[in-house]
Amino acid sequence: MNSNQAVSERRKPSQDPMTQTTIEVLLDASERLSAAGRHLDGAVAAEKALATPGIIPVQQAHAREMLALHRLRLGDYQASVQNGLLALEYSTASGDLLQQSKVHCTLALAYTDTGLTEQALSHAVPALEAARACGSQLAEFWALTRASTVHGAMGDSVRGVELGRQALALSRTLGDTEARFVAVNNLADSCLEAARAQRENDCDPSQALQEGLALTREAVAMAHARGHSFFETIALTNLVSILIELNEHDEAREKARRCKDLARVNGFRTLEVNVDAQLAEVVRAEGNLDEATAMMDAQLADPSIDEDPQLQIRLHQALYEMHKQRGRFAEALHHFEKLHGLTLKRTTQTAGLQSQLLINTLEVEQARHEAERSQLETEVQRVRAEELDDQAHTDPLTRLPNRRALDRELPLLMDRARDLSQPLCAAMIDFDNFKLVNDEYGHAIGDLVLSTMAEMLRAVTRESDLAVRVGGEEFLLVFGNTELDQAVLACDRLLASVRDYTWGVVAVGLTCTVSVGLAALQPAERVSHWLERADVALYGAKHRGRDQIVTADA
Ligand code: GH3
Ligand code: MG
Ligand code: MG
Repeated sequence: MNSNQAVSERRKPSQDPMTQTTIEVLLDASERLSAAGRHLDGAVAAEKALATPGIIPVQQAHAREMLALHRLRLGDYQASVQNGLLALEYSTASGDLLQQSKVHCTLALAYTDTGLTEQALSHAVPALEAARACGSQLAEFWALTRASTVHGAMGDSVRGVELGRQALALSRTLGDTEARFVAVNNLADSCLEAARAQRENDCDPSQALQEGLALTREAVAMAHARGHSFFETIALTNLVSILIELNEHDEAREKARRCKDLARVNGFRTLEVNVDAQLAEVVRAEGNLDEATAMMDAQLADPSIDEDPQLQIRLHQALYEMHKQRGRFAEALHHFEKLHGLTLKRTTQTAGLQSQLLINTLEVEQARHEAERSQLETEVQRVRAEELDDQAHTDPLTRLPNRRALDRELPLLMDRARDLSQPLCAAMIDFDNFKLVNDEYGHAIGDLVLSTMAEMLRAVTRESDLAVRVGGEEFLLVFGNTELDQAVLACDRLLASVRDYTWGVVAVGLTCTVSVGLAALQPAERVSHWLERADVALYGAKHRGRDQIVTADA
């Protein structure tokens, strides 16, 4: 599945078709512009989509995802992180694992570039998990690549190389040329980093350098074969760095010249300036310190260098070292001071950015906690309201539904019966001589008798029936889908079970019976009329001597 299909799948059919088309067109454009490296235009398209009235949550998530990526590429880390965290909220809520993985990757990069490696790692890991959970090998590849970068930035070049190898192995199965190139090039870069770390720790870096060399050669050949000048320039830059480390000065110079030509022809200004610095490094490595110094001074004098503080730092560092080596302490001090100023500025900027990013992260987290809390509160209120509603509709002594519940339930039962043309019968049940029970055994025993009766009623009612305590010692039993003769049989059984119950366990010498008035619901009969007929029948049963059933006339 490609990303456009994923978008159309996530579309909501209820949205106005015009709005839908406008937003989807903008989002598709934003994706395409990203692939073409046109991040400024891509960001504009995503912003427009976001500002379109009627945009739905999945589209907002997509727009935020794109903005996070564009802003990252444009160096606006704060906006990148802000949009990334919002996109993550959405995609977590919607359960879109592929999107989660992509956004985590972007956030991992944004935090790495800002030096917040802990945060970066906290996104690299879930990026990998989400990719594996949704089964997208391409997403897994990018997550491995980002994880490799994060570990490299944390100074763990061994783990960086290891993850880079996993990414490369995966990329060879994917058939995605960009992924292949990125995998080879990134692993080469990780090897170079590992080699430098080994050299600093007095370990032999040659194995890592040889691996890096083979990989950069492969990367150059791959980009060249595809006519991808940007990738080729990048790969050549890395090749030159490795050749310098290996003291292969002639080839380093030759490849640097090729790289410079390619950068100049294609207008890759930053890469061109960078390769000039590499050429000066070759000259320095060959021992021509005067020439190297002159070259680097010339570079620093070029106003365009102001845009690349990273390179400025590298040049001042090299110049400081060379002047010191030759005993020119005044010049060495000059470059040292420049170097100090630049690093301090960078540290301050990074610290400011880092704290801003952390504040953003905290704010988003706080907002999520707030949302979770209010959701919980709503849930608690709902449960409480339900409990109150239950209480209001339940008789506290017998736990049977009460009169209020009857008023709510009975009309529904009747509607259903009429819709399905099913018969309904109502049995009005009243204890016989209950006053005597109270008088002889006390009110508490009377209560116990009522609870026991409720149990008996519960035992005979089915899902489709309704048993209610309508008041005092009177109960109503509504039989769903039951003809009158069947209701008579059921009431007979109930009468017998009340009569035969061992009431002696409740109170010594106690006996109980009930009388029942039974009425079948007539077509188009009102509820009050129906229950009145049952009441009249009950009165008849009392009149005839109690402990019996009387059925009402139609
Ligand atoms: P009958 O056979 O004619 O129905 O005689 P009866 O004594 O049962 O008469 P009636 O139905 O008029 O009396 C109901 C009695 O039930 C009155 C009242 O004291 C008692 N009662 C009503 N509610 C409760 C209750 O919640 N607990 C107890 N223990 N007694 C109740
Ligand atoms: Mg009674
Ligand atoms: Mg009564």
